[in-house]
Amino acid sequence: MADCLFCGIVTGDIPAVVVGESTRTLAFRDINPQAPTHVLVIPKDHYPDLAALAGAGDGLLAEVAGQAAEVARAAGLESGYRVVFNTGAEAGQTVFHAHAHVLGGRRLTWPPG
Ligand code: 5GP
Ligand code: ZN
Repeated sequence: MADCLFCGIVTGDIPAVVVGESTRTLAFRDINPQAPTHVLVIPKDHYPDLAALAGAGDGLLAEVAGQAAEVARAAGLESGYRVVFNTGAEAGQTVFHAHAHVLGGRRLTWPPG
């Protein structure tokens, strides 16, 4: 999608530190990490948010979730990690290409801010 930051990362027009990939997903480090491990997992195709990604209905959301779990495993986050889809501006979504945040490597408090 034109003018989408994460579509630009998929095409390689915008550089990113890629840590995992499947045919339909990409995992790369967040540019402003909020934890020692902070990776974003996205579908390579453009879906604006979680609802649209869930609506793809062909196992794509499960593939994103599986990639998130693989990122956590590879980072050695056996003691715990968090997977977050900020959805909508009020919840802090700033990039409207669906993405899972994978956060870990420090104690994570609950409830989140
Ligand atoms: P959101 O706020 O939409 O849930 O998450 C967007 C995330 O994208 C933020 O955590 C932000 O730090 C990250 N981000 C914004 N611009 C870039 C970029 O150019 N490269 C990378 N790797 N991450 C970015
Ligand atoms: Zn996009």
